[in-house]
Amino acid sequence: MLLHTSIGALKGVGKTLEGRLSILGIQTVSDLLFHFPFRYEDFSQVSSISGLQAGQEITIEAIIELIHNKRTSRKRKIITEAIVSDFTGQVRIVWFGQAFITKNLKVGDKVKFSGKIKEDMFGLQLVSPVYEKVKEKDELIQAGRILPVYPLTSGITQKQLRHLLSQIIGLAKKVEEWIPEDIRDRADIMTLSEALTLIHFPNSFDEIEHAQRRLKFDELFILQLRAELLRQSLHTLTAPQIPFHEKEVQQFVKKLPFELTKDQKIASWEILQDLEKETPMNRLIEGDVGSGKTVVAALVMYNTAVSRLQALIMAPTEILAKQHYASLRSLFPKEIKVGILTRTEVNTEKLEGEKNSKTKQKREILKMIQDGSLDIIVGTHAILSDSVNFHNLGLVIVDEQHRFGVEQRKMLKDKAVHQKTTPHFLSMTATPIPRSFALTLYGDLDLSLIKTKPSGRKPIKTRFVAPHHRQKAYDFINEEVKRGRQVFVICPQIGDQNIESSSLQDEKKTVLEEYEKLSKHIFPHLRIGYLHGKLKGEEKDRTMKDFTDGKTDILVSTSVVEVGVDIKNASVMMIEGAERFGLAQLHQFRGRVGRSDHQSYCFVLSTVESENVNERLQFFERTSDGFALAEYDLQLRGPGEVYGKQQSGMMQFKIATMRDVEIIKLAREIAKNIDFQKYPQLREKIHIWEKKVHLE
Ligand code: ADP
Ligand code: MG
Repeated sequence: MLLHTSIGALKGVGKTLEGRLSILGIQTVSDLLFHFPFRYEDFSQVSSISGLQAGQEITIEAIIELIHNKRTSRKRKIITEAIVSDFTGQVRIVWFGQAFITKNLKVGDKVKFSGKIKEDMFGLQLVSPVYEKVKEKDELIQAGRILPVYPLTSGITQKQLRHLLSQIIGLAKKVEEWIPEDIRDRADIMTLSEALTLIHFPNSFDEIEHAQRRLKFDELFILQLRAELLRQSLHTLTAPQIPFHEKEVQQFVKKLPFELTKDQKIASWEILQDLEKETPMNRLIEGDVGSGKTVVAALVMYNTAVSRLQALIMAPTEILAKQHYASLRSLFPKEIKVGILTRTEVNTEKLEGEKNSKTKQKREILKMIQDGSLDIIVGTHAILSDSVNFHNLGLVIVDEQHRFGVEQRKMLKDKAVHQKTTPHFLSMTATPIPRSFALTLYGDLDLSLIKTKPSGRKPIKTRFVAPHHRQKAYDFINEEVKRGRQVFVICPQIGDQNIESSSLQDEKKTVLEEYEKLSKHIFPHLRIGYLHGKLKGEEKDRTMKDFTDGKTDILVSTSVVEVGVDIKNASVMMIEGAERFGLAQLHQFRGRVGRSDHQSYCFVLSTVESENVNERLQFFERTSDGFALAEYDLQLRGPGEVYGKQQSGMMQFKIATMRDVEIIKLAREIAKNIDFQKYPQLREKIHIWEKKVHLE
């Protein structure tokens, strides 16, 4: 057995279990080793039966005096009952619906039982304990130790996982150490093998803490190393110095249909100053939805174009790219040439009205990009894998992304072959990341915050709608549509997001079902469209255009509309299955409405009745500050959940949290100015890690 051996090769793992394990991301032996417990139960102390009290979680070691199955009279469910004893007394044990136990445990067996003591009218009993027969000298896996409690999925039990781990824990020794000894000493951490062994089979809580410390350090250190590597490599590069064209920029600002907010001005100023430098800018603008990041991007792109350098802006979706193209065209004076190049849209002023084939138009655009006759190029990320060659690229902006990947940078470099300089980089995100948190993850980035929104916006009224009030929400929607407004209905994603294709299928299914329901039964008199990830580009566009043009009243959609879409006439955002989304993501949806002076509304609905869900959604109802929402979820659910599956690639911690401030600082300190020549294995590790994150 090796680390990369498939999990299916383990004893007791059939096809079904293999499938379930893969839902947990466990495909190989190594994956299983890296599936960490999220808490522990202490069953290491053996209690004597005479001292048991109701409410305790305990372990006893006892002999089985009697054991049998019986059926409850009314519900006909199977109960297994046992009486067990030690030197001090007897106690009753019950299990529900686990008839097979009588096959495993026989009268006279000496067994350790770990579980909770309850009291009923017959006295104390131990309810559904885990158990393990006591064999002399053998290590106990299931009971009588500090028991790890693992994240599960349906159809897998703690017991199964613990058992599987016991089969492979020896292989922890084979896991390669990637942190050199002198760094381990400085950080005061144990080896990886040791940590992996102890995290699953600890002998004490002290050991757990040390093992956790090592594993957390790994996750945080790699992020810091990566940031440091980026920082060091950027510092060796030269960027084109782009002077601040004060007169032109002032003209541009004057022509805007509104006054820039103070934060917009500061952000623009910070960027303009970076552009003047000889090292490439590496900056992130964080601004809540609707805070007006686009115009800041436009302003700095304009300044770049005035310097006769090209600027590229990449959007996460085609819809957004088109929107950017349209708004940039309207913001810039005629002499600035803007072009768009995406899978479905290839256009620029010069090509408008021409009836050429797509291929021909594309060739034309590529030529214009290459010979410099286009100043501003709008695209999706796909543009990077296209055969584009830039003339003289000065600035690259990615919208709705936290940072530039190394891959992206490399691809960009290949696309500016004749250019000696590296462009300046700017990313923009609506995801509120608290500053301290951002510094942790993006140590290499400078940060501009746009906190205030343009004035005159009416706050969006948010309501958490209980299931029995659903009709009221529908009535309200009817009224709004009568007033000429439009409505989004967002459907939840179902299934596991890691399984790409099947989740798209599920999305499609839920959207279609919701569409059916609304168009046939709830709003048969209204015009309804739908949007999901499986639609073709053209279909998506048509649907989106119909909605933008007011030809449909309601748009049923998945999170496709999550980022950036700007439809001023939409006034209601209704979110189904809201409990499935992170609060920051809900906030993004909410930001799709309230983009003009119509009073707007956000309804969140959930079919799950749970106190936690209610509490979260009520917090969302009363909180309009994106940062506060993010903080709330960070505490509750961790970064992966808060920042959505797509964006959190680099934030998928298994074990570290934002509360590990001390380890974060330590990792940062050690990574700072580290000599990668001295530690080539660290650089290698970053590459491997990046590949993995990239694939996910
Ligand atoms: P986001 O930051 O979410 O990308 P946008 O850039 O799409 O936001 O801006 C949202 C809307 O606000 C747009 O319609 C834009 O024209 C408008 N807007 C931007 N800045 C201002 C401002 N200073 N005053 C008024 N409206 C503004
Ligand atoms: Mg935007």
